Amino acid sequence: MSVPRYWREIPRRSRLEAAKCKDCGAVVYPPRCRCAKCGSVEFEAYRLPETGTLVTYTIVRNPPKWFEKASPYIIGLVKLEDGTTIMSQITDIEPEEVKAGIPVEAVLRKVMEDGDSGIIEYAIKFRPRL
Ligand SMILES: [Zn+2]
Repeated sequence: MSVPRYWREIPRRSRLEAAKCKDCGAVVYPPRCRCAKCGSVEFEAYRLPETGTLVTYTIVRNPPKWFEKASPYIIGLVKLEDGTTIMSQITDIEPEEVKAGIPVEAVLRKVMEDGDSGIIEYAIKFRPRL
């Protein structure tokens, strides 16, 4: 990923910023150009809640090469408090301990470090809420 694109993406990647369709009210995350429900291109910024419930999950044991250090990791489907469902990495819990139905909250975590360019990428992940 080029540096300019990376910087452009920081605001929405490091906050739970989604887009809400002005025509049908569908919440789109990550934001896209066109509403999948009604085809509208009219959106307004929409801040997602930071807490929710883990609906289901997958444990990834054979990640892409650049992601190997993090293996195994958990990808979960999280239902947020406003009903929006998003896909996210689940962190701070062992794959053997994770289970559907646990309450989770958003945290900002490092996802990868590029040794050559010095770019460190952050993204929202979810962790168990105690
Ligand atoms: Zn729509």
